[in-house]
Amino acid sequence: MSRTVELRSDTFTLPTESMRRAMATAEVGDDVWDEDPTVHQLQERAADMVGMEASLFVPSGTMGNLCAVLGHTRPGDEVLLDVESHIFTSEVGGAAVVGGVQFHPLEAPDGRLTPSQVAAAVREPDIHHPPTALLCLENTHNRNGGVCLSPQQTHGLAEVAHRAGFPVHLDGARVFNAAVALGVDVRELTGPVDSVMFCLSKGLSAPVGSMVAGKRDFIERARRARKMLGGGMRQAGVLAAAGLCSLNEMVARLAEDHANARRLALGLDGAPGLHIDLERVETNMVFADLQSPLDASQFERLCGEEGVRVDHATPARVRLVTHRGVTADDIEYAIAAIRRVLQNQASSELRPTGTYRR
Ligand SMILES: *Cc1c(COP(=O)(O)O)cnc(C)c1O
Repeated sequence: MSRTVELRSDTFTLPTESMRRAMATAEVGDDVWDEDPTVHQLQERAADMVGMEASLFVPSGTMGNLCAVLGHTRPGDEVLLDVESHIFTSEVGGAAVVGGVQFHPLEAPDGRLTPSQVAAAVREPDIHHPPTALLCLENTHNRNGGVCLSPQQTHGLAEVAHRAGFPVHLDGARVFNAAVALGVDVRELTGPVDSVMFCLSKGLSAPVGSMVAGKRDFIERARRARKMLGGGMRQAGVLAAAGLCSLNEMVARLAEDHANARRLALGLDGAPGLHIDLERVETNMVFADLQSPLDASQFERLCGEEGVRVDHATPARVRLVTHRGVTADDIEYAIAAIRRVLQNQASSELRPTGTYRR
């Protein structure tokens, strides 16, 4: 009877049966010596899928982005990115600490930078200025509710950087969600940029791992960075085997997660004390703004008591993420449970003796 609906993140996905089998039988070698055949297979498949010369298997998306920034920059360089980007907000400042780069964050209220604001942020050559050396984009945009950058938008932004003479890195942790939602080949989203990182371990359900892809010489620099960071793994083929299943078996089904997110958003739309911008539900995330006196952590706790696990994005905003571990039936259950939480709150506000917090 009691169930748990895990909506905190798509990182909670568990490996599939097919992954377990592939992991058990994977052919392996020492990947620091570049001799693991399954890692090679994964790296070739990943590079091909995103239309790049080469790719590198890394333990996490965070390390992948860091290897990419290290592969593109030198200490003292400046990196343009948006102020809500994962690299700026959620990677412990690694590129500043390890790479000695300076972040130059730009405001992008809807999660999409514009070519003109990027152009305006590029430094003129001047003895006082840190040289602008890299633009980082994010698709889908995590802290902006999983919204997508289109091929045209990506192209427009990359063109500004390339005209100014520096490369573009795409934090594409969920770039396959974007491709599926937009109905385009993922190459249309990666073609305009110089490198991309994407996660195997989120909606694609692998237990561990991310990929960095780009030109061959860039990947060699990223490989050195990975080694420096302690990310050189030995018989990593057992993990790469699961990653191959992600790429071969798990991409198309992301559409189900998107349909579930839409259903969830529609089911919660109009619930008392909650506001959802339906226009911005493009992929597998639903952001809901709390307008009741409940704050996000109280809401989180009350939903948790109903078996629905949600996360907060800000003190007044909750994040709901759909993935393979959440069925259409779980979505109906979650809608009813969340509505119950909000309804109880709304009626307790009407009771004069109720505990009443602002
Ligand atoms: C999850 C995520 C990452 C980092 O991936 P980890 O594997 O958790 O380190 C990077 N960028 C974005 C946009 C993400 O959502």
